[in-house]
Amino acid sequence: MSAKIHSVVLDKEKCMGCTNCIAHCPTEAIRVRHGKAYIIEERCIDCGECIRVCPHHAKKAQADSLDLLGKFDFTVAIPAPTLYGQFKDPYSIDMILTAVKALGFDEIFEAAEAADIVTDELKKLLKSKEENVPWISSSCPAVVRLIQTRYPALLDQIVRIESPMEIAARLVKKTVYPDKKNIGVFFISPCPAKITAVKNPLGSTDSCVDGVLAINDIFTLLHTKVSGLGKVEKLGRASSRGVSWARSEGESHSVEWPETVAVDGIDNILKFLEELENGKIKHVDFIEAMACPGGCVGGALTVENPYICKARIIRKAGKIEPPAESREPLKQEHESLLYMNADIPPREGMKLDPDFRKALEKMAVIEEITASLPGLDCGSCGAPTCRALAEDIVTDTARKNDCIFVLRDEIRNLTESLAELGSWMPPLLPDEEKK
Ligand code: SF4
Ligand code: SF4
Repeated sequence: MSAKIHSVVLDKEKCMGCTNCIAHCPTEAIRVRHGKAYIIEERCIDCGECIRVCPHHAKKAQADSLDLLGKFDFTVAIPAPTLYGQFKDPYSIDMILTAVKALGFDEIFEAAEAADIVTDELKKLLKSKEENVPWISSSCPAVVRLIQTRYPALLDQIVRIESPMEIAARLVKKTVYPDKKNIGVFFISPCPAKITAVKNPLGSTDSCVDGVLAINDIFTLLHTKVSGLGKVEKLGRASSRGVSWARSEGESHSVEWPETVAVDGIDNILKFLEELENGKIKHVDFIEAMACPGGCVGGALTVENPYICKARIIRKAGKIEPPAESREPLKQEHESLLYMNADIPPREGMKLDPDFRKALEKMAVIEEITASLPGLDCGSCGAPTCRALAEDIVTDTARKNDCIFVLRDEIRNLTESLAELGSWMPPLLPDEEKK
């Protein structure tokens, strides 16, 4: 499927061209030209940073609406555990899940329950001590796309186990309700990256998720439901370790392995992956990497402060009791459902030219232009750095005098030339003087 299917889009009407977003994009995918931002689709990883920082709410995520449920005869919700942290402590996980069901779903399968299954698979992988260590978790789709775009040399280190969202959807359709016809599976998401992971899957040929609802779109309705609940159903089945995946360190602690590390926040991840690529990270077997600050609790489609959400997740996870009845263990014939079934190829978005020789030539020109720019990385040209402007000039999407300092010098030179030319002007003829 095309790299051009994205959930993060620009509302052009709302964009004021302020350039706030360009410096925060981890793949330099945003430019501002003619007073409006635009996203270079081949580079965007749908991390949602631009949604978070735009003061004019001009960037948004395209999620599905609850109306889509009407297309299916039987519907299952897969809530991300981050949803639990959006509600105050008196609202238990079972209360929240009962309220989700009251939105119109027939059944619930928690993403956290699938996280429990992934945890067991990760433990097996780590025990096998294969060569690819350190393994990098595949649970954050923004990080997987970041590696695909900026650090392709690390692609082989990504764990080939599917995300809890996708595993939950596959199990719902293939093992839990295999006889249901026209079944619709909906993920309730804290971030745009997971919406894109469904519309444009990576590592698997297609997704078993039929729709994705954004937490911030349904929160008000869900809050009304949860605060007016009658009977509460016992719906939670995930363990406390599965629920903890909502926050940073949840996944890495759950594998109970000594040499793990948890990195969260896109800037920290950029630095960490750079060091990893340069061979500076040693003695680590497993890397949990979450693009949002604090993990999924900091997702751009949540409503609660990430620190408050994290604290609630810790408290709610601590209160979990074992479920009254457990599901059947996964049959061996279904174990392939836990794994990716396609390659994760490097993304071409950052390449200057498919021809290596031409790319090298362009690189040399970029260096030359960069050296001639002021090096302030001020963003006023609409590119995030002077080097990015140089790249845009070489790829014919910008001009050198988009740089206001270059433009200023050009105007000054022009003015001086005009003044000089003026001083060389021939004297007026007598007839002209009378006019
Ligand atoms: S932050 Fe970016 S998208 Fe938002 S108004 Fe400024 S330029 Fe436009
Ligand atoms: S979603 Fe992330 S990668 Fe895409 S344009 Fe926004 S900040 Fe850049």
